[in-house]
Amino acid sequence: MATFLWNDIVFGPIISRRVGRSLGVNLLPTEAKVCTFDCVYCECGGLKRGAKAHPLPTLEQVCSAIEGRFAAIAAEGRGVDSISFTGNGEPTLHPDFPAIIDITLAARGRYFPTAVVSVFSNATRLDRPEVVAALKKVDNPILKIDCALENMAAVMNRPAPGYSVERTVQLMEAFGGNFVLQTMLVRGSVIDNTTPEALEAWYAAVRRLRPREIMLYSVSRDTPVAGIEKVAASDLAAAAAPLVAEGFNVQINA
Ligand code: SF4
Repeated sequence: MATFLWNDIVFGPIISRRVGRSLGVNLLPTEAKVCTFDCVYCECGGLKRGAKAHPLPTLEQVCSAIEGRFAAIAAEGRGVDSISFTGNGEPTLHPDFPAIIDITLAARGRYFPTAVVSVFSNATRLDRPEVVAALKKVDNPILKIDCALENMAAVMNRPAPGYSVERTVQLMEAFGGNFVLQTMLVRGSVIDNTTPEALEAWYAAVRRLRPREIMLYSVSRDTPVAGIEKVAASDLAAAAAPLVAEGFNVQINA
């Protein structure tokens, strides 16, 4: 059940088949996950509830890391195809997230003008207009709904109190479909969001939101909770088939 944490603010470039040479940006502490979810499959491990709070990097530290690392890689003549906000938790939790997006887009323009900027978010902070405005500035706001059944989402994502899938779908409608929906499918003794009931509820949410792309994937690393099983690529494709038949752009990341 080995899980891992990113140990820097800017990491990479990592070579990815899907997005090429990719730099990651981690706005969370390097010592612990900080997130509004505690997904049973999270590759960062479980939340350490009650543990001492780890500070987030300051705006100054993030700016320095972005400027320093981008400049160093560019000076080596190495290109970057994508810049992705991911890391040890939920990036929109950073209080300076909107400013950091502006700084990143400016640095992208100076150093890697063709690089695509993505933010992987669990969509729990869409009730803040400044977060939505910042997410709309990047090329790929990648927003998570794993399960559209409230009870199942509670088991799978273990959200902080107050989370509601229905409310999140309503807030996602502000994107007018101009976002990427990310959905993790898993099976096992703890959770199975591939059941017909779960998939039908998810299809209904997708039809409401009409995202320009759907990223469907399953676990690829160890999980903090035992009994979580990977869903095979062929089963991911079968789950996506009704949406593909309706014209949705579904990418299977197995
Ligand atoms: S939303 Fe992402 S970072 Fe947060 S617990 Fe889930 S998988 Fe981990």
